[in-house]
Amino acid sequence: MHKKEGSMMTQTYDYIIVGAGTSGPVVASRLSEDPQVSILLLEAGGENTNDISRTPGAFFKVWGTDYDWQYETEPQKGLNNRKIYSPGGHVVGGSSAINMGFWMRGTKEDYDFWEQQGAMGWNFETALEMFQKIEDTDLGPTRYRGKGGKVRLEYSAYPTEFTDTLLNAFKEAGFGDIGDFQAETPYRADIVQKDFINQVRHTPADSYLSKEIRKRPNLTVQTDTFVRNVIFKGNRAVGVEVEHQGKVQQITAGAEIILSAGTYNTAQILKLSGVGPKEELAKHGIPVVADVPGVGENLNDHLLVNVLILSSIPIPDTHFNPVSDESIAQWRRERTGPACYYPGPAAGLISSDKTYTGPDFEIILEYVHNANGSEKEFAGVENIAERSGYSFTVILTVPKSRGNVLLASGDPHDKPLINPNYLSNPDDMKKFIKGIRYAMQLTKTRALLPYTERVHPAPDASDADIETFIHSEASSVFHPVGTARIGDLKKDPMAVVDSHLRVRGVEGLRVADASIMPQVTRGHTMAPVTYIGEMAAQIIRSEKH
Ligand SMILES: Cc1cc2nc3c(=O)[nH]c(=O)nc-3n(C[C@H](O)[C@H](O)[C@H](O)COP(=O)(O)OP(=O)(O)OC[C@H]3O[C@@H](n4cnc5c(N)ncnc54)[C@H](O)[C@@H]3O)c2cc1C
Repeated sequence: MHKKEGSMMTQTYDYIIVGAGTSGPVVASRLSEDPQVSILLLEAGGENTNDISRTPGAFFKVWGTDYDWQYETEPQKGLNNRKIYSPGGHVVGGSSAINMGFWMRGTKEDYDFWEQQGAMGWNFETALEMFQKIEDTDLGPTRYRGKGGKVRLEYSAYPTEFTDTLLNAFKEAGFGDIGDFQAETPYRADIVQKDFINQVRHTPADSYLSKEIRKRPNLTVQTDTFVRNVIFKGNRAVGVEVEHQGKVQQITAGAEIILSAGTYNTAQILKLSGVGPKEELAKHGIPVVADVPGVGENLNDHLLVNVLILSSIPIPDTHFNPVSDESIAQWRRERTGPACYYPGPAAGLISSDKTYTGPDFEIILEYVHNANGSEKEFAGVENIAERSGYSFTVILTVPKSRGNVLLASGDPHDKPLINPNYLSNPDDMKKFIKGIRYAMQLTKTRALLPYTERVHPAPDASDADIETFIHSEASSVFHPVGTARIGDLKKDPMAVVDSHLRVRGVEGLRVADASIMPQVTRGHTMAPVTYIGEMAAQIIRSEKH
């Protein structure tokens, strides 16, 4: 084992992991189970000490603060040239420290797709096996769900019986039964499970870097350390250049460096280190270590749009403010009250045809506080703030559109240029319209009709009207993936890492985070990223022995 010694400039570790977000802590935790190796886990942000980020209902108050990289996309042509805000966790726990906490793993089709893309060994069976180690849910142990694993999962709390009405509407519309969509069939609706224990967020980082694990002498977690680039000797990665306490320093890796900095930053770090498309590197004066055209390409993200409904009758127990000081104080005192509730506690997955080759849509089933934010949509309605409402967040689960992440400059502090190219593939718009129609169908069920006064967009809207609505209202679900995609390096020139997560054209460098996914999963991305972390550690350890 390389010893940690001297000032940071002379420090050497066996493995350096960049990013203590979602996957980084998993890799660090598992690798450090071997006392023979030393691990350094570097994080640009600090420790997660702001407890508001741990509330189920008020966590988003940390967006736009130091906990967030505060990215936004380039103007999106498909979205009326709007720039879309794209938060990303800048803190231990990464994006899973600031997200909604939904644990929706994706389906068989998602995991098998990776192997079809040439990532040998990455298939649904492997994923199921791995999720046994990851999950701790009372729905397990079964073939599909784990019990006793690292990440404790509990059902979202919800304050209103109206949530059951929404679930009943899903069933009545014929979209599927009510039940776990991560079991045999995904075409179901259910209350969502999250990584919250007794109303307190407990991220994968909290579990994999518990106090006990952090005591391991071979594991160092160093926060407030910004990684500028990877250092190469020839084509071998030998260390990283970092900024810490105002100084630029170098840290050496005896064995390997693993990038877990997330979809935007991993692509940026690779390029700043000379691994990327040679023309782009040349443009910014960065010497080429390896010409890897796929770095930063294949950016794929989920879009959502909200169908809003003004209720004819009051919906009980929804008129409260989850983010008020009073609500947060109550949550601190007794873990009860409005800050425990996120308005979308349930979701359903829908297939648009009877071939059932994976759900095309996810619909989040939501009540709305005080018809909040719908003054524009329901203009002319008196006392809107005293009215009740509900909404459906429609998510296109497999968008075909692809974009990229480019360098703005060779300065690591310049935010990268993020261009997801939303709706650039015309099939996405066609499909999205269908999804809106499904949401409208729900408003007409016997369960929901008594509540449905007005719907936005209006149920008699033409496809062209809905298209206009989508262009002006759609936004991101914040699931960017794909900028260092896994695949068969021999057959796929745009694949960046092989099935062992090794970066094309160089040695001693791997990627293990959301950027390796060839396409976004039919669910939410925290669970598959946790799986990627486990896979990375297993692969590295198996190669060593
Ligand atoms: C607002 C929001 C809501 C979301 N909601 C959900 C949800 O409900 N359910 C779900 O499953 N998924 C959700 N997601 C997506 C999910 O959280 C992410 O896909 C996943 O956490 C990404 O994991 P990662 O390890 O790839 O990156 P991250 O978790 O983002 O980790 C990257 C880490 O690297 C650090 N880092 C980056 N650059 C550097 C550098 N140069 N030097 C040092 N450190 C660096 C970052 O600070 C960060 O801690 C959401 C995401 C966001 C942003």
